[in-house]
Amino acid sequence: PPLTIAIDGYSACGKSTLARALARRLGYSYIDTGAMYRAVTLQLQRSGVDLDDESAVASTLSETTIGFRPTDNHVLLNGVDVEDQIRGLNVSNMVSQVAALSQVRRAMVDQQRRMGADGGVILDGRDIGTVVFPDADLKLFVTADIETRIDRRLSELLSNGQEVRREEVAANLKERDHIDSSRADSPLRMADDAILLDNTHLNLEQLVERGAELVAQIRT
Ligand code: C5P
Repeated sequence: PPLTIAIDGYSACGKSTLARALARRLGYSYIDTGAMYRAVTLQLQRSGVDLDDESAVASTLSETTIGFRPTDNHVLLNGVDVEDQIRGLNVSNMVSQVAALSQVRRAMVDQQRRMGADGGVILDGRDIGTVVFPDADLKLFVTADIETRIDRRLSELLSNGQEVRREEVAANLKERDHIDSSRADSPLRMADDAILLDNTHLNLEQLVERGAELVAQIRT
């Protein structure tokens, strides 16, 4: 039977590379839940809504649809590809505040459960194994030390043509780690039955190999 695989962990630790590569190998769909929170953040920024104004946030949410283009997994906001716009520091610097709003989480978690309901899916995020799919067949929790994560995200942003300094990236990752782990309703934490993958001393190919071995074990 098609599996449901949950991959959680900190920002820029290699989770999405792992999730994407495993999904390709298995022929599964891949849901980047961070991209969903990023797209909602972009929409709230565009509409200029005050995050403390619950009814304004609710009405923006009700007019927002998020999806993924099947061909390349780019995130679609109201049908439009916003993949490039959601990756910059503008969105990164606000996304964890948006993701801490309980009405935003409720809407995203509901949609993620619907999208993953038939299995054959890999989701990556912060709360997949603890909240979204607590009964997932395989739960991985990926970490890497902070300096490795900063270097990785910095080179991603630079290679996308963004002008950022290392200190800005460092401040953003540390701030998000803090907000994400202290969120009231679903703090970032490892599920009791998750397998820890420390990516500090692995390259991405080794990480994917390790993930593939773990998938093979549960399929036999
Ligand atoms: O994975 P990524 O770094 O793109 O996620 C962006 C932000 O979205 C995270 O820092 C976190 O605040 C939020 N997020 C979340 N729950 C998820 C995925 C992401 O709160 N499942």
